Formats: sequence, structure tokens, C-alpha cells
Amino acid sequence: MADSEEPAPSLPPCPLCGAPVVTVTVTGPETGYASPCGCRIFPDRT
Ligand SMILES: [Zn+2]
Repeated sequence: MADSEEPAPSLPPCPLCGAPVVTVTVTGPETGYASPCGCRIFPDRT
């Protein structure tokens, strides 16, 4: 079986809905919104 060429999305999946996150809008130190799905996510914190 040959390697299947799957479209490797460089976009990280939304942790909530699994949709590809195009943009993350950070609204606070620990708050953000993923676009275009609009889920509320938390940016990486150290
Ligand atoms: Zn989402």
C-alpha cells in the first residue's frame, strides 16, 4: 500500500470541536477565541 497523500493541515485542531483553527484571538492572559469556529480556548501558558 503506497503512502496516502493526505492534506497535512498546518493548522492546529480546535481542542473543543476539532475544527482547524485559522486564527487565535487572545483576549486576555489566559483567554482566547479560536477562529473561525469561535470556541473559547486557552493560549499556551508557561
Ligand atoms: Zn472550535
